[in-house]
Amino acid sequence: MSIAVYPGSFDPVTLGHLNIIKRAVNCFDHVVVCVMVNSEKDAGLFTPEERVELIRRTVSHIDGVEVEYSSGLLSDYCEKKGANVVVKGLRAISDYEKEVQMALINRHINPNVDTLFLPSGEKYTYLSSSVVKEMAAYGTNLEGFVPDCIIEDIEEKMKQRREE
Ligand code: ADP
Repeated sequence: MSIAVYPGSFDPVTLGHLNIIKRAVNCFDHVVVCVMVNSEKDAGLFTPEERVELIRRTVSHIDGVEVEYSSGLLSDYCEKKGANVVVKGLRAISDYEKEVQMALINRHINPNVDTLFLPSGEKYTYLSSSVVKEMAAYGTNLEGFVPDCIIEDIEEKMKQRREE
């Protein structure tokens, strides 16, 4: 059985992420979406557990997808899941340098795990979780940027943040 891990911060999951998940499912028997917390990014809008819940809801109709959170090293996580491929989405050239660097480091740590890059769906090239958070902060309509089933959660979270 071919198993791939799709790691990211997913704070929150966007339609760009969902596009990559669906395409990864076409290539592998089983895809594990793994929420990982990036120490370089700030605390984030959603907790890792909330992000997992939002992704699970988003992919509930897709077979062969599992969603988890891991605070460990990606290559250890892949080993644990029996995955020998990491899937990553590539948006602009700006993603390339950082992603290739990470792929090489991961392969160095665990030569059994390689990284497969999928080019972003053309509609989602400029879409990131940060852009979504920026839009939500200004009350912009999020339709077409994130799955419909999580829009209310983002709006609610932003409202809570404003009241804090
Ligand atoms: P961001 O916070 O920048 O949206 P994540 O860390 O959540 O990024 O992204 C996880 C993975 O998904 C990375 O490989 C990233 O390049 C990819 N990704 C993020 N947004 C998109 C998109 N719009 N299209 C394709 N891939 C994407």
